[in-house]
Amino acid sequence: MVAIGVLALQGSFREHAALLRRLPGVSVVEVRTPEELMSVQGLVIPGGESTTMALVAERWGLIPLLRDFLSSGKPIWGTCAGMIFLAERAEGTKSGGQALLGGLDIAVSRNFFGAQINSFETQLGAPECLRKFGGEDVFRAVFIRAPAVLQTGSGVEELAHYTLTEQEKDPAERLLHFVCVPLLCLCLTSTGGCGRLWVCVSFHQEPTSDLQWHQLFADMVFAHAGQTAVEQQAIQSS
Ligand code: GLN
Repeated sequence: MVAIGVLALQGSFREHAALLRRLPGVSVVEVRTPEELMSVQGLVIPGGESTTMALVAERWGLIPLLRDFLSSGKPIWGTCAGMIFLAERAEGTKSGGQALLGGLDIAVSRNFFGAQINSFETQLGAPECLRKFGGEDVFRAVFIRAPAVLQTGSGVEELAHYTLTEQEKDPAERLLHFVCVPLLCLCLTSTGGCGRLWVCVSFHQEPTSDLQWHQLFADMVFAHAGQTAVEQQAIQSS
């Protein structure tokens, strides 16, 4: 059994929690306090409004704790506003900026696809890792006031992308929007190594009844928790 947290400060945390509760072996914690954050082995940061989410997190003193969680190597999945919150760089932030947790080497544009009225649904080519759960070549992606990933660092791998229509192309001729970027990088720790796993998508998936992204994330948490348990056993018996 693993405990997966959903950051419940603002946004679509209830929808994520409801989908995660359908997965066997997963208990779900809505995370608002340091104790709740400490109790989980993976964390979902939902979509919503990243400025508000960052403000609430700051006011509740959660930013340093969330950064600690990030550096602990436990899997984190940020969707939409959650992805913005995890980005190293964001454009379109209000004057004076907003706190970003950072950690994911991407640059994002917060409201690239426009306002609520410009929200849309589409189908995107499913990455190999997702097919294990859904078996389909495509998946349904819902873009709500969606951000775009403009740049990715070398450790970031693109899982799926959306190609802009002619109208959507901006003057700078950004031809592609990377909408789905997992980062898999290994970092050495004093306990002998830990995996850092992320899946970040700039679209929403929780309004659909499609569970495959949640299954993929839960799988990462299971794998990481298993690895951690093995490491802990090794430390205890040495
Ligand atoms: N554009 C929004 C923001 O800046 C994110 C939208 C979303 O999460 N659906 O936070």
